[in-house]
Parts: sequence; C-alpha cells; structure tokens
Amino acid sequence: MKFYSTNNKSHKVSLKEAVIKGLAPDQGLYMPEQIPPLSADFIAQLPNLSFQEIGYEVIGALFGEDLSSDHIKELVNHTLTFDAPLVKVEDGVYTLELFHGPTLAFKDFGARFCSKLMNLLVSNEKVRVLVATSGDTGSAVANGFYKVPNVEVIILYPSGKVSTLQEKQFTTLGENITALEVDGVFDDCQQMVKQAFLDKDLNARMLLTSANSINIARWIPQCLYYFYAYSRLPKGQGKVVFSVPSGNFGNIAAGMLAERMGLPIDHFVAATNVNKIVPDFLKGVPFRPRPSLQTISNSMDVGNPSNFYRLLDLYGDESNLKERVKGYFFDDATTREAMAEVKAATGYLMEPHGAVAYLGLKTFREEHGGYTGVFLETAHPGKFGDVVEAVHQQKVELPERLAAFFKGQKKSQLIANDYEEFKDYLLSK
Ligand SMILES: *Cc1c(COP(=O)(O)O)cnc(C)c1O
Repeated sequence: MKFYSTNNKSHKVSLKEAVIKGLAPDQGLYMPEQIPPLSADFIAQLPNLSFQEIGYEVIGALFGEDLSSDHIKELVNHTLTFDAPLVKVEDGVYTLELFHGPTLAFKDFGARFCSKLMNLLVSNEKVRVLVATSGDTGSAVANGFYKVPNVEVIILYPSGKVSTLQEKQFTTLGENITALEVDGVFDDCQQMVKQAFLDKDLNARMLLTSANSINIARWIPQCLYYFYAYSRLPKGQGKVVFSVPSGNFGNIAAGMLAERMGLPIDHFVAATNVNKIVPDFLKGVPFRPRPSLQTISNSMDVGNPSNFYRLLDLYGDESNLKERVKGYFFDDATTREAMAEVKAATGYLMEPHGAVAYLGLKTFREEHGGYTGVFLETAHPGKFGDVVEAVHQQKVELPERLAAFFKGQKKSQLIANDYEEFKDYLLSK
C-alpha cells in the first residue's frame, strides 16, 4: 500500500516513509492510496469474531502488502491487550468505553500500535518522536513508547494547561521520555512540532517523527474499535450513528475510514466543546482555525483541528461530508448538567469528554428518529477527577495503576514559545 498526501495525490510514499515522516513534506496528511473494501461476509460475521480477529482482518486489508501475517498478528495483539466494552446507558443509547488501557485513555490504542509498528519498520536507526499534547496524547505516547529501544520521545505541552495527573503521567517516567513545558497554548506546541518536521537542516541531522494523530500509525488503528462496537450492538439495531468527542478529529476520521471500508455506519456526530470550528463549518461557515479556548474537556481544546483534511478527503467533497456528518457544540455548563442528569437517571458516570459526545448524540436523536446511537467515552472519569467530583459530589476512585503516578517526581524543562529555542534543545541532545 502506498500513501498519498492530502495536498497532492500524486505524491506517494511507502508505509515506512509515511510512518517516519508523519507529515508529508507539503504539510499534507498521508492517506492510504486505496481504501480496501471488506467483504459483506466479513461484516455479517463480525458478531462471531473476537476483537483480535477483527483486527487481523482489518489491518491485514490495509497493511497486508507491507507486513507479514505474523507481524500483523504481533501488531494487533500488542495493541489490543485490553477490552473496549459497549455499555447500554439508555434505550437506543450505548457508550463505547475506550478507557481500559494502561493510561485509561482511548489514545492507548493508537500509541501502542504506533510504537510497535515503528519498532517493526525501523531496526538499526535512532528515531526521535516529537509529540505536542493537550493532555492525554502525552501520557498515552509516553506509556506506549516507554523503554522501546532506539526511540526517544520528546513531549511538548502547554504549561499549566493540562491536569495534574496527565502531567504526572508523562513527566515522571524518565528513561527515553523527555517533557518540555512550553510557555504557550497547545496550538503553539503543535506549531513548533510541525515546524521541526519541515526544517531541512534539522532533518538532515536526525531522524524525526511524530506520534500525533497526524501519523497514520496513530490514526489508522483507531478504526478497529468501531468495527468491534458495531459487532456488539444487539441484533436488529436499525440505522447506526456514532457520536465522537472531537478535538483534532483523528478519532472520528478513523470511524469514517471504517465506514468507507464497508462498516454500515449511517451517520457521524462531530461533538465538540466551544472550540467549534468544525460544527460551524458543517453549518456553512468557512473553515477557519482560531485560537483555542480553555474548557473542562481540555483534551479537545483545539483551535486548528489537524485531521480536518482527512474528513474532506474521505468523503470526496464538502457537500457529501455535510450530508453524512452533523456537528454540535456544548459549553461547560451544559456538559456539567448532562453529567449530573445521566448519573441521576441511570447511574452511569461520565467524564466531560464523553458527556459532550452524549449531548451530541442526544441532540442528533431528537432531530432524527429511528437511530441506535453509540457515543465514545474517551477517558476514565478518574482522569478528570476535579470536575467529576465537583459535579457528582462524590469521590471517584482512580485505579491503582494510575494512583501510583501521583507519587512520582515531575521532571520537565521549561522553554519559551520560540521555535529556535526548541531547535537548539534538539541539537544539543
Ligand atoms: C484526544 C482526546 C479527544 C479528542 O480526540 P481527537 O482524535 O483529537 O479528536 C477526546 N477525548 C479525550 C479524553 C482525548 O484525550
């Protein structure tokens, strides 16, 4: 399989090059040259297959030309070491719990797949992985790559704008994981990382790559749990809609990839907080990045959603995209209210990101009858303990393996929001 740039379909590269480059030289995102259709028989058999078996088939269809079937199995088995249960919340409303991985975030899927794939593709070189994070990416990537030989991870995060637990998860590990605390916002971190990838001088001196959802190795594996969730819905569910809490829009774009491969998803809901660039676009406002605003669902505080061009690419044109995807946004007060209401009515405990997706699904179902809906719950409630406890007036237990991070000592290096300073740092290593 070759991969092309969303900015130039005739610029094609190998799997290895797409994974190592992360971003195409023309700043486009890589996309698979063909979207392999899965057979109707495979779709019909989904309920009888395990998560891993689904993974072998889907990843095999995408990467089968480039990796042996043993490597595909290794990759899938390394990634899917934890479950993603589908839980009924209300009639016709299910949540896909994606937070049972090592850092309790859905990004664990992509991070584990990415580290294993890099490990399989590059053996004798030293790779530096640059990551900009608004919170959860940093912890998932740090955990997924921890102690992976020949890979050094450098995490850039906005000072004071991630939760204490998130910060602890990527600043306390040490070894091959370094954290740079940037005096700026998430978009500044992302901009510095993008600039580094485009810096010819720097790239001539070291092998740099990304583990953000712009990288296909982080992005593509996320399509797996859409197949799995669909397979676990009760029979005769009718039309299916997935509501995805979105920031950089990698997660929802992976759902669309699953749909393009043949999974019968009728509609998507792009649910955001007040960083509503995409919902606005879907209602007819021109796409225009804006500075990000801080909210209680901070992993979605993104003002320039980098996977937006994948959405356009997957649906061919704007009108087709607008037909298949509805966008809704919600402010913090509405999100808190939904958390409280759902808890009171059903006992189900949502954290702010999942609550935004729940609200998006609820709004969609009010406007469109006859749908079974799945909203993605992307983090464990304990990861956003401050907000969750304030809403529910009750203590949220954090699983043992996370509580351990609080005991670690934070090690980070403060840098200015200045590309030259970042570059000097990289050259000094
Ligand atoms: C990263 C993240 C999101 C947003 O996912 P995107 O792929 O960037 O749209 C949502 N919820 C949580 C908890 C996250 O960490």
